[in-house]
Amino acid sequence: MPSLSAAIGHTPLVVLRRVVEACRVPVLAKCEHLNPGGSVKDRIALAIIDAAESSGKLQAGDTIVEATAGNTGIGLALIAAERGYRLLLVMPEKMSEDKRRSLRALGAELVISENAPPSDPRNFQRVAERLADRPGFFLADQFRNPANPGIHERATGPEIFAQTSGRIGAFVAGAGTGGTISGVGRFLKGQDASIRIVLADPVGSRLAGLIREGALGEDGSYLVEGIGGSEVPGVFDPTVIDDALSVSDQDSFEMTRRLVREEGLLVGGSAGTAVCAAVRVAQRAAQGSGPVVVLLPDSWDRYQSTIFDEEWMARV
Ligand code: PMP
Repeated sequence: MPSLSAAIGHTPLVVLRRVVEACRVPVLAKCEHLNPGGSVKDRIALAIIDAAESSGKLQAGDTIVEATAGNTGIGLALIAAERGYRLLLVMPEKMSEDKRRSLRALGAELVISENAPPSDPRNFQRVAERLADRPGFFLADQFRNPANPGIHERATGPEIFAQTSGRIGAFVAGAGTGGTISGVGRFLKGQDASIRIVLADPVGSRLAGLIREGALGEDGSYLVEGIGGSEVPGVFDPTVIDDALSVSDQDSFEMTRRLVREEGLLVGGSAGTAVCAAVRVAQRAAQGSGPVVVLLPDSWDRYQSTIFDEEWMARV
């Protein structure tokens, strides 16, 4: 009998019809929100656990530990439930009660850490490292684990290539760990070096500056979750990225709401960021070049009290 793991990946690629004003080429959306846990992170959770089992780093009865505020936690919880591992998730206290409740319902144990920068020992990633530094504990380590970009290079990239019959003008995605854009980018560049890989970055993130000017940009704050940052993640590979576009919170959230209402795509905020950038790429594309492919990372259910709440949106 196929297991739940077999339902991860193989997501549809759909054409955007109504949010694509003045585009010269089609924009195709890779629907990662349709994975069983509602995000692209199901793929890396499965890949990280498979790799750790094969190498012997993870054995029956062990505890998986990760520093995550959401999607990776849900992905790991699905696989941990299916395979009988204990799961310990460390998250900063700023994360919503909604997210905590869902993860507890999935059987994860939560450790809530103080909101603290990466250099501070109280930071959630530092806390997770200390908790996992014991026999019988395994740190999933999505920000550094090569299984993260690896699965996008082996699966997500080839799926997109097959679904477009290899005809792609550009691929657009945000970067949280950078696993998606680095892995997919590496695969697509290897097939056809003329495919442009474009980073969609929130205004206030420092990563766009790294791509456009070769040095991290100015540090700012923003509300879009899961992408951007002030540090370069270990699995982020800038050498496969050609360009970066910055998108404001307001534009990201308005686009997210349009994707739901006008396209029937039930996605979260970082999908709005990516689609705003993809539309700009498609508006400037040379006539007759290949379509723009954009990746939709997660599902709207985790944003009901934010992006889909009128009072919250009025304060953005
Ligand atoms: N969007 C959301 C909502 C996410 O949680 C993440 C992962 N942090 C991403 C986008 C970016 O994916 P990646 O880590 O592969 O760069």
